[in-house]
Amino acid sequence: MIVSDKMKDFVLNGSAIRAMFEEGGRMAKEFGKENVYDFSLGNPNTPAPAKIKEAILEILETEDPVLVHGYMNNSGYEDVRQAVADDLNKRFGTDYDAECITMTVGAAGGMNDVLKTLLNPGDEALTFAPFFAEYRSYVGNFDGVLVQVPSKPGTFQPDPEALAEAITERTKVLIINSPNNPTGVIYTEESLREVAKVLLAAQERIGHEIFIFSDEPYRELAYDGKEVPFIPNLYKNTIVGYSFSKSLSLPGERIGYVAIPKDINDFEAVSTAVKTANRILGSVNAPSLMQRVIMHCLDERPDLGFYDRNRKLLYDALTKDGFDVTYPDGAFYLWVRSPEPDEKAFVAKAKAHRILFVSGSGFGCPGYVRIAYCVSPEMIKRSLPSFEALAKDYGLL
Ligand code: PLP
Repeated sequence: MIVSDKMKDFVLNGSAIRAMFEEGGRMAKEFGKENVYDFSLGNPNTPAPAKIKEAILEILETEDPVLVHGYMNNSGYEDVRQAVADDLNKRFGTDYDAECITMTVGAAGGMNDVLKTLLNPGDEALTFAPFFAEYRSYVGNFDGVLVQVPSKPGTFQPDPEALAEAITERTKVLIINSPNNPTGVIYTEESLREVAKVLLAAQERIGHEIFIFSDEPYRELAYDGKEVPFIPNLYKNTIVGYSFSKSLSLPGERIGYVAIPKDINDFEAVSTAVKTANRILGSVNAPSLMQRVIMHCLDERPDLGFYDRNRKLLYDALTKDGFDVTYPDGAFYLWVRSPEPDEKAFVAKAKAHRILFVSGSGFGCPGYVRIAYCVSPEMIKRSLPSFEALAKDYGLL
């Protein structure tokens, strides 16, 4: 056997999202790109802000090429880290400095760094379901156990009572993702305060820290002026993992950061371990040019209007068709209840209408599907008659 047993498991339980995306490519060849409605992948379909290109060109023109393309500290360039810390402090009233920040290979790279830092084999990482399916792999990488805590039915807000029941002596970290993939729900300050209360009591009881890892790739994607609470201000032991993949439409560039507050116990040990993880997991450091680019673009924001128009267009159409859709306050996903108990059958029926979306089981929540609306508005418009036909199949219209 060449491939390790552990890796075989990862391959066998491969990403349903990626599988659907690849199926979309195959169907596009068969039926023509215009006739396939692929809502499977969270890949932003709006270009990065113009400032990104300007910054790239300016850096290449004016900065030392040896520096721009060279190695640096495993945690990233100091001036970039200081700029990120200043930006967070300005926005959230915190007191990070460059030492608190490690530049990472997107949110995924940052989360792997932090989980490697925190988890011994058999330690538990909790997360509220539904959750981003890749958490299974990231926790599995370090032989941790991903414990799924149900969120409140209907609202998909964190359920503090369910959390309290799920915590054991092996609990090391709670992964929180708000705005949430796949539901689009923003966790309210009230519910996060309840979560913090439960964790504080549990830390006392079990005698060691429980960290929150706040996975924030969708922080800037909040609609109608909705606030996304900054969790470190509600719970001290919070490590933020941020990404520019969605907020600046840069998913392929692989750039993000981890922010560790200075006032946690053993700050020095934790931050050194995160930097070391960045090195030994093989990234060595976050992409150099992109670090320098984002330093000039920290005030840039996504084209919220683009996503908002898509959100309204699809939400209105699907609810009119009779589907039961969770109203999304953030991110770029619609979370739709399957009209039949087996959502995989719903996914298959949609595919017959050449609509592709992803089953909720992978997100730890069967009975639902996720529809990514970070696509072109033209594709959404073209897809609407097919959604209507799908609704008719179920007698919803
Ligand atoms: N976390 C969540 C909730 C996501 O939705 C994604 C990407 O879709 C990631 C992490 C990974 O983001 P990145 O591309 O920055 O690694």
